[in-house]
Amino acid sequence: MQLNFIGNASQVSSSGLTIPMLDPSDGEVFDQIQRSNAKDIDDAVRAARQCFDTGWSKTPAAERGRLLMRLSARVAQGVDELYALEQRDCGKPTRQARADAVALARYFEFYAGACDKLHGDTIPYLDGYSVLTWREPHGVTGHVIPWNYPMQIFGRSIGGALAAGNACVVKPAEDACLSLIRVAQMAAEVGFPAGAINIVTGYGHEVGDALARHPGIDHISFTGSPSVGTLIQQVAAQRHCPVTLELGGKSPQIVFADADLDAALPAIVNAIVQNAGQTCSAGSRLLVDQAIYEPLLERLGAMFEKLRAGPASMDLDLGPLIRQSQQQRVWDFLSDAQADNISMVAQGSVVDVAPETGFYQAPTLLRDVPVEHRLAQQEIFGPVLCAMAFRDEDHAVALANATQFGLVAGVWTADGARQFRMARRLRSGQVFINNYGAGGGVELPFGGVKSSGYGREKGFEALQGFTTLKTVAIKHG
Ligand code: NAP
Ligand code: MG
Repeated sequence: MQLNFIGNASQVSSSGLTIPMLDPSDGEVFDQIQRSNAKDIDDAVRAARQCFDTGWSKTPAAERGRLLMRLSARVAQGVDELYALEQRDCGKPTRQARADAVALARYFEFYAGACDKLHGDTIPYLDGYSVLTWREPHGVTGHVIPWNYPMQIFGRSIGGALAAGNACVVKPAEDACLSLIRVAQMAAEVGFPAGAINIVTGYGHEVGDALARHPGIDHISFTGSPSVGTLIQQVAAQRHCPVTLELGGKSPQIVFADADLDAALPAIVNAIVQNAGQTCSAGSRLLVDQAIYEPLLERLGAMFEKLRAGPASMDLDLGPLIRQSQQQRVWDFLSDAQADNISMVAQGSVVDVAPETGFYQAPTLLRDVPVEHRLAQQEIFGPVLCAMAFRDEDHAVALANATQFGLVAGVWTADGARQFRMARRLRSGQVFINNYGAGGGVELPFGGVKSSGYGREKGFEALQGFTTLKTVAIKHG
């Protein structure tokens, strides 16, 4: 059974209740986590506050950097253990789970180096005055993490928060907590003080809500769905608590007739099958120049037919979806496609040996999806790619911008002037040109516009969000 981690100690929940953990590859229960409550959150916030007040806030930035570097090294040494935990928890194929553990180490490495590079300014002002700004930590930060990339999102969120000098209380998704509990233990091992990193597991509407409401939380970083993002903002607004929101996306891949398809097509496939399509930045809409629409769909269809889903340990193109309700959600979208005569170009397969009790979905390519259809508007969060043709650049921009989301856009074209025009015209937090998120981008600020959220995590920019600016004006004559 898994326990909360509060004040560098493993703790049972005061509720006395647990939640079963399912392995998505076979639907079997393999562990239990604590079903925590508001009392446990209160304990964690107190531990974090005490840590902050009694030493952490006075710890020199360089020392915080050394601790984060030690944690990075510990995670790197424990990659096999961590990826196995997350693989079981989330149903990720081995290469994906391993890449996520490696990325976690890289986040801590990046933020280790950032700690002592964050500083304020001096500002010219009236004669006889000196004005300076300090970047100060908020104090205790709350972090609500989704199940799709627990290690990566934990790394980018608490990595930035700790680098800026905050103490953290983390609420992982109930579907995927195991790797994070283990990383918090590793942090204690390498010398993080008690209360710097606290993990409290449980249901979002119980323990997540209690975290968002707690008056001792000074900033909330939320990654998850737009609807829960709204709830978090409403709760936080009551006490004017700042929030960073990383919400969903319906990201377009825009392919012009002059694109290098040998480079584009594998990236387009990967962007929708990675993590079985359960990725905020999944390239879930495919916008293609009508001049190459048919030949492109033919090539892409042949690639989709070869894709295989199966148990995580088989390390195929994709594993199962996270849970039965997610599988049902994808099925509902696909039955809408059928009811509305939206044609399927191609579908991959689920391997025969995949247990029937697992939550599998074969990757699916749909064509001529009307821009206003819910398949083209809402996050499916499964391996379903919706293709549509565009007439010209203006039409491509109009289609790309025609959803409530604005997280990522991919543009594939050899025309340099068009690359810049498209980058300017797309309403999106990120635009990738002739690549799609290559290299992981730990250094690159990440976040959305519109219903994809606001504020940025990753990169140095995240440190702005995890701090508040204090202006000091001194009259000295
Ligand atoms: P979700 O249902 O919004 O859950 C996200 C987190 O919020 C979970 O830890 C959840 O806990 C918790 N939660 C649920 N209700 C809550 C409440 N009333 N108060 C406080 N916390 C609450 O989203 P999800 O289904 O896990 O994740 C998928 C969504 O996240 C998609 O929309 C995806 O695009 C988005 N996402 C965005 C990014 C990004 O960077 N932009 C990255 C990854 C995912 P429980 O699950 O334990 O109930
Ligand atoms: Mg699980």
